Amino acid sequence: MIKISGINKTFHLPNGSRTHALANINLEIGKGEFFILLGPSGCGKSTLLRIICGLEKASGGELIFGESVKSTEMSFVFQQFALLPWLSVYENVELSLLAKNLSETDRRTRINAELERLRLDKFAHAYPRELSGGMKQRVGIARAFATQPKIILMDEPFSELDSFIAQELREVLLDIWLKEKPTIVMVTHIIPEALELADRIAVMTSRPGTIEKLFTNDLARPRAKRSPEFFKFEDEVLAAVKP
Ligand code: ADP
Ligand code: MG
Repeated sequence: MIKISGINKTFHLPNGSRTHALANINLEIGKGEFFILLGPSGCGKSTLLRIICGLEKASGGELIFGESVKSTEMSFVFQQFALLPWLSVYENVELSLLAKNLSETDRRTRINAELERLRLDKFAHAYPRELSGGMKQRVGIARAFATQPKIILMDEPFSELDSFIAQELREVLLDIWLKEKPTIVMVTHIIPEALELADRIAVMTSRPGTIEKLFTNDLARPRAKRSPEFFKFEDEVLAAVKP
């Protein structure tokens, strides 16, 4: 679905200095795959995600999509939710649908179904400031899935939340992904989260970011997070991560 060939990225700062953020990234991400980029802070995970969705331009290399993917067929879930504070929950979700050619009725049906699925229906007219972090990210997820995208990019979507809420939302996400099977590329620095969610995990090195190791996660779903296999795999992945 996404082929990344020899992607490089160097940032040029106004003071003349440079940051070599990504070096020769090669990855192939399959259709419907739940793919995780894992690595220490500053290794270029967000930059790579932003390059995939076109928010950032690579300095070199090639990005090829297996089928044509329009910009409206890709959505992004942000760490800090990125909701518009002056719009209600309903309107925040609606915004992502405005670029789609839907009738008003179809749009309303789609939004209401999404809000209901994420248990936000009672909060449709609330504003972001009235919501907890977990509820805000539910809106972030609703907004991302409402457009029925082919690709969903998620940048540490649960790292701002407390661990109970994060766990709840991981389960909500898995449930929706298993039903709809969009391709998901998610960034995290939390190894158990990667093991719980991913089909495959790419471990990145610190700057310039490269792919250190690619793991296939064969643990049966739903993943038994206290099983010996889980802990063994966690150790293997941990050994590949260099801070
Ligand atoms: P991660 O998400 O893995 O923490 P980032 O992709 O955010 O890492 O950043 C990788 C490196 O690129 C960091 O050193 C960061 O400071 C630098 N960087 C990221 N975005 C920019 C930018 N817009 N301008 C300059 N440097 C940047
Ligand atoms: Mg980041």
